[in-house]
Amino acid sequence: MSELNDAITARRKQTRSSIYHYLYNAGEPRSKQDIARDLNLSLPTVYQNVTELINAGLIDYAGAAQSAGGRPAMQLRILPDARFAIGISITGHRLRFSAADLSRKQVAYLDLPHHYNVEDEDYHTFVAQQLEEFIDSSHIDRERLLGVGITLAGIILPDSQTVFYAPTLYIRNVSLQQLVQAIPYPVYVENDGNSGGFAEWFGSEERRSTAFLSLADGVGGAVLVNGDQYVGDHYRSGEFGHMCVEWNGLPCACGKRGCLEAYCGAQRLSGDLGITLTEFFRKLEIKDPDASALWEDYKKHLVIGLHNIRMVLDCDIVLGGYVTEFLEPYLPELKEMLAENDPFDKECSYLRISRYGKYSSMLGVALSFIRDFLNSI
Ligand SMILES: [Zn+2]
Repeated sequence: MSELNDAITARRKQTRSSIYHYLYNAGEPRSKQDIARDLNLSLPTVYQNVTELINAGLIDYAGAAQSAGGRPAMQLRILPDARFAIGISITGHRLRFSAADLSRKQVAYLDLPHHYNVEDEDYHTFVAQQLEEFIDSSHIDRERLLGVGITLAGIILPDSQTVFYAPTLYIRNVSLQQLVQAIPYPVYVENDGNSGGFAEWFGSEERRSTAFLSLADGVGGAVLVNGDQYVGDHYRSGEFGHMCVEWNGLPCACGKRGCLEAYCGAQRLSGDLGITLTEFFRKLEIKDPDASALWEDYKKHLVIGLHNIRMVLDCDIVLGGYVTEFLEPYLPELKEMLAENDPFDKECSYLRISRYGKYSSMLGVALSFIRDFLNSI
């Protein structure tokens, strides 16, 4: 008998879920009649489930639309602000916060300059305080907050609390336990490349296998095959930043030489000439000789990295990280250089810039909470 009850409960839950996801994927309001017709459900079943979803605060009426018979049919839609999740990005120089709603949209953002210092006893308290201020200033209801994700450029062990190695933060085997405990919400810690890749995959309609290459202070990435991240034997998959692109080349923060990160990290463009990234791309635009020479070298090594990723994985490559904010005008020349070396593809349309740009890693780590919540409905 209890098995039968379980089966009935599971079936009811599945019906409720299919109605919610139908409205979620529709992207625009739909009537109960639309739901009944498209999901092949009886109207009484639709009424009952819609009432439950309204009572749970997940959907609501969007207003009346004129039906074929002249009577207004009430249109239903999902409520994006029924839940939120927050992502925090920690880099050596910046602390950034992003909040996303159920529609995968960023609803609030904050960028604070700071210096990451693991030695500082009060660091975790500082981050937790800034988080609370961010929640207040964004007017996010704490009751609706699913969790807080933290993303940084390092290898995170499966306990989701230990940073095994983060060269750009100069830390090795550091526990984030104090930081996690200082935050009074569910916390999830993820590598920035992995979370950026996840955002890209989860945010796209096609959900194609993707290699994500993040160009920021560090250079990292992720490989997503049918939505699952390929992590590797030691959680180091997608460490594109430490592929060798020049034998015995420039020194890298990892201690080796010739890595893609040493050539294509953000600091290369700003630090080498002692200017900001914005200034660098302004100089490049007016064909400043120093900026142009540096750009040629940057581009050459970036294309070697992209070519190798494509040859190994044969999937779309998405560029993320804050350097991409400036890269759109240079995408055609990158594709042209890639095509010159590609034995199979002359268009190189597989290369594109992340839809979330500099927000991708923070949003990705927030969106993992959103994905779990949507799957639970
Ligand atoms: Zn390296």
